[in-house]
Amino acid sequence: MPRDIITLACTECKERNYTGTRNKKLETQRREVKKYCTRCRTHTLHRETK
Ligand SMILES: [Zn+2]
Repeated sequence: MPRDIITLACTECKERNYTGTRNKKLETQRREVKKYCTRCRTHTLHRETK
């Protein structure tokens, strides 16, 4: 199955903190996850970016 590599970036400082894979057929929506940002030093919303 084709999988896309995605990057999750902090919505506060735009730091790209996480990467992962996504199945395009199963997940069509953009991911938004609360994760720890090392630059903000707190949990922020991370959004999928290119
Ligand atoms: Zn941040």
